Amino acid sequence: MRKKPAPDYLSGYPADLAAEVRRLIEQGLLAEMLLRKYPLPHAVRTDTALHDYVVTIKGAFLRNAGQLSKVYFDSRLHVVRNALGTHTSISRVQGQKLKAKREIRISSLFREVPLAFLRMIVVHELAHLKEREHDKAFYQLCRHMEPDYHQLEFDLLAYLSNLEATGRPLWAAVTAVTADTG
Ligand SMILES: [Zn+2]
Repeated sequence: MRKKPAPDYLSGYPADLAAEVRRLIEQGLLAEMLLRKYPLPHAVRTDTALHDYVVTIKGAFLRNAGQLSKVYFDSRLHVVRNALGTHTSISRVQGQKLKAKREIRISSLFREVPLAFLRMIVVHELAHLKEREHDKAFYQLCRHMEPDYHQLEFDLLAYLSNLEATGRPLWAAVTAVTADTG
């Protein structure tokens, strides 16, 4: 299998931790570890299912954060640069009122990941409805919605590093469990 050096997804973490992940990728061990920890992909495959999933989490935590106009998987989102999704606020004038139109686009690579990773990315994008920057308040809100947020973000970035290095999505061939949407 062709291998290239992984891009620096893990630059925000301590150097020894990032080096350990790189070593596990080079030895081909990271994939196995991830599959053991997260054996199955989720079943949120369509834009409609994604929309419902996002709206359910939003309803539980951010009821007053304004309406979402659109939620969808976007295959054009560059995996490397926009893996963490994008949140768009389009302001448009309607009559005298300025209305914000809010979209959440999730890279379609998240179609074939464990539910925990999808949840993490959805929580990330929802938190941006209230907090623009990746600052303390932002991460506090993420943890409020998903207490395991930081561990999941680390595991996801380790997975993306592995994906970039090997070109092999880990859950594409695994059958989704239909009940696994909670
Ligand atoms: Zn962000």
